[in-house]
This record gives sequence, structure tokens and C-alpha cells, in this order.
Amino acid sequence: MLLSNSFIPILKNNPSEAKIKSHQLMLRVGMIKQASAGIYSWLPLGFKVMKKIEDIVRQEQNKIGAQEILMPTIQSSEIWKESGRYDDYGEEMLRITDRQNREMLYGPTNEEQVTEIFRSSIKSYKSLPQLMYHIQWKFRDEIRPRFGIMRGREFYMKDAYSFDVSDEEAFYSYNKFFLSYLRTFKRLSLTAIPMAADTGPIGGNLSHEFIILADTGESKIFTDKRIFDLDNADTQLEKASLESMRKKYEQFYAVTDEKFNKEDFEKIVSKENQLITKGIEVGHIFYFGDKYSKPMGASVDLPGGKKDFVKMGSYGIGVSRLVGAIIEAKYDDKNEIMKWPLSVAPYDIALIPMINKNDTSALDKANNINIELIKNNIDAIIDDTDENFSSKIKKMNLIGAPYQIIIGKKSEGDLLEFKETSGETQNLPLSKIIEIITKQKNSI
Ligand code: ATP
Ligand code: MG
Repeated sequence: MLLSNSFIPILKNNPSEAKIKSHQLMLRVGMIKQASAGIYSWLPLGFKVMKKIEDIVRQEQNKIGAQEILMPTIQSSEIWKESGRYDDYGEEMLRITDRQNREMLYGPTNEEQVTEIFRSSIKSYKSLPQLMYHIQWKFRDEIRPRFGIMRGREFYMKDAYSFDVSDEEAFYSYNKFFLSYLRTFKRLSLTAIPMAADTGPIGGNLSHEFIILADTGESKIFTDKRIFDLDNADTQLEKASLESMRKKYEQFYAVTDEKFNKEDFEKIVSKENQLITKGIEVGHIFYFGDKYSKPMGASVDLPGGKKDFVKMGSYGIGVSRLVGAIIEAKYDDKNEIMKWPLSVAPYDIALIPMINKNDTSALDKANNINIELIKNNIDAIIDDTDENFSSKIKKMNLIGAPYQIIIGKKSEGDLLEFKETSGETQNLPLSKIIEIITKQKNSI
């Protein structure tokens, strides 16, 4: 892609309305454009990143056997009246009346909708477990939308739901999602820690929030530092290994402020392992048994002939919030360099030809390199503008392709001036560069 043809409206300076670095960068490089409070359009660069995150989330859901569906954004109030949440949800719910005077709403979450789908078709324990998810826009009329897409009113979420015959089976489903979250965040190159959480308006009795550390995060967290050294993303999907995986995390104290208890914390965690800091919630999983299946009458026949309400859990990932969370974790705002992990980078590599007036040879060379890169599925952006070298580099550092090739004096003959965006320059032939990037991509 040529920079001159792309819609990447870069600003010279940080916009003053943005208080945290992710919001600054997203506005600065034109990833998003505010439409109204807490509601954004996603421009090409931001949309590319979000779609790549979505894809990784999807792959990891599929790997644990969850099935993708798509439920509507607009829901009928009827099912929410059945569950009892229509009144409870309060002012965060955007309520709409259609031309027949029917009460509708823009879904803030989908427990009711999915339970309604389930109960109309599944009647026997033999069809369980069922794991279903969708990736869809949500609306919550947040009282204080802020930090750009981090706390929006409209946001993009992956929400999954599990249906099981017993508590034991339901915990197995819960643990599968627990593992898929560890794997997902690892592929996004984030360290997300599962923390015991309050179940809030979703209700229930078992819950973990997945939190990444960031000074600008809105969640206060209290942990035993050693939990950060755990890495169990390669656990097998079978029951016993999943159970022992979750235990490994639960042996360490790690809670958000709703569950914090000073006495416990000081008793359980030795002074040198105590960490009190802030983080961003990127995912949240809940087990809530028959909280929805009971009032909504979602039951199945059991082996002995009896019936019981199905046991449910729900599992959310903030796909749009993750774009901001990755920026918070990876943006070097002092040097203005964005280090996107290759798994979600808007471009794999930036080609930066030094273009002199009346001499297109560097640009020709960049175009030829790009033909080879395309053949190898490597997505490049070429800065074909005639700006000076340092402003080209600045711009490309902000856009943040993980690799750069500079086509100037030092890229002589077959050897190209190649570097990781914040690393050392190497002179390598194109074939070697393709090999390095391909190897890196295959390892994601
Ligand atoms: P929070 O505590 O941040 O308000 P929540 O607990 O209300 O979030 P959940 O219902 O658990 O949110 O939603 C699942 C995920 O969706 C969250 O972990 C978060 O990543 C994301 N999310 C929730 N609210 C928003 C929002 N207003 N803007 C962007 N993402 C959000
Ligand atoms: Mg939550």
C-alpha cells in the first residue's frame, strides 16, 4: 500500500483532549474518529488492528470447541423481563421503542438472547455441553465514557456462553475458556493475569477478570507478584490438566478492589511479594449456574428421567478495548515509537525510499521489493511521499510496522538496510528478510 493513497490522517502533535497514551496515539495516527461521546468510527489503520485481534480471539475460541453465531444488536425487552434484568440494568441500557410501540433495547450483553436460543432447541443432556460465542457491537450508556475506545458507549465484544448438565461439567467449560484466554492474550503479546473478581450485575459465584498492568488502568489490583511468572498457555484441554492449571493461578493472591481485604492480603502475601497497582480489564469470565436458565425455563432431561435447569457461564473479551490496551502496553511515548506485536500490526513492514526530485529509482526499488513481499504474504506500507528522511521515519515509527527497510544510500545492490522498528540496522538480502518475517509470523 502506498502511503499517498492511504487514509491515515496523521496529526503533527498530540491532540490535547486525549489524556492517556492509547487515546493520544489513536487520534494522532487517525485510527479512530469520534462520532459522538463514547462512539467512534474506525478508520483503516485502527480497523486493521482490531480485525487482527478479532481473528486471534476467534481462532482461540474455535480451538476449545466453541461455535460462532451472530446474535442481533437490537433485542426485545420481553426476554429481559423474563430474567428480571429489564428493570435492574438501569440507565446503562439504551431503550428504544419501535413504530408498533414495542419496547426494544440495544444489547449491553447477551445472556437472555442466547438462553432463548438454547431453550427453543436443546431438550436433553445428550446435546450438552454447548459452547457458543459471537463477536458483536454492544451499547452501554456509560455515565463517564472516556479514554477513547477504552471506555466507550458503543464497543466491540466477544461474548461466549456455556451450557452444561452439572456444576462439575460447567467448571470444565469454565476452565476451557480460562485456558483460551491465556492463549489469546499471549498471542497478543500481553501478560494478562486472571484475578478473582466480583460477579457484579451478571451475578453468580465464580468469576475471574483478566487484567493487564497499566498505570492508566481503571482497576485497582492487589497481587502476589509471583503470579506474573506463570505461563500455562500450553496446557492440554482435558479435565484434570485444566483443573490443575487453574489451581496454579489460584494459589496466588490476586484480586481487584471489590474483593480486596487488607488483613488477608498482609497475612497471605509476604511483604516482598506484595504488589498494589493498576490495570486494565481486557476479559471477564463468570460462572452463574441457573441464574438465567431458571427464570427463563431453560431445562434439559437428565439420564434418570428427571429434568434440571441448565448450568451456564459467560465469557467476555473487550475486542475494541484491546486495541487501546496493547497500545498502553507497547507504546514508547517518550520516543514516539509504537511497537505493535507482529500478530496485530497494521502493516508487517514499512518501506522507506529516500526520494530525490527527478530520481524515482528508490521508489522503483521499493515497488519491486513490494512485489516480492506480496508473493510471500507480507503486508507492506511504502512511504512514497517526498518528505524529508526524519519526518518519514517519525511517521513510520508512529504507524508502527514492526520492521522497516530504508532504501537510500546504504541499501546498495542486493543488500538492504533492514531493522526492527526500534532495533539495530542490518544489511541483508531481501530473501533473508522474507525468511525472518515469515518465520516470525508462523510462530504467532
Ligand atoms: P468494566 O468493569 O471495565 O466496566 P464490565 O465488568 O462492565 O467492564 P463485562 O461485562 O465484564 O464488563 O464485559 C466484558 C469485557 O468487555 C470487559 O472485560 C472489557 O474488556 C469490555 N468492556 C466492558 N465495558 C466496556 C466499555 N464501556 N468500553 C470498552 N470495552 C468495554
Ligand atoms: Mg467485567
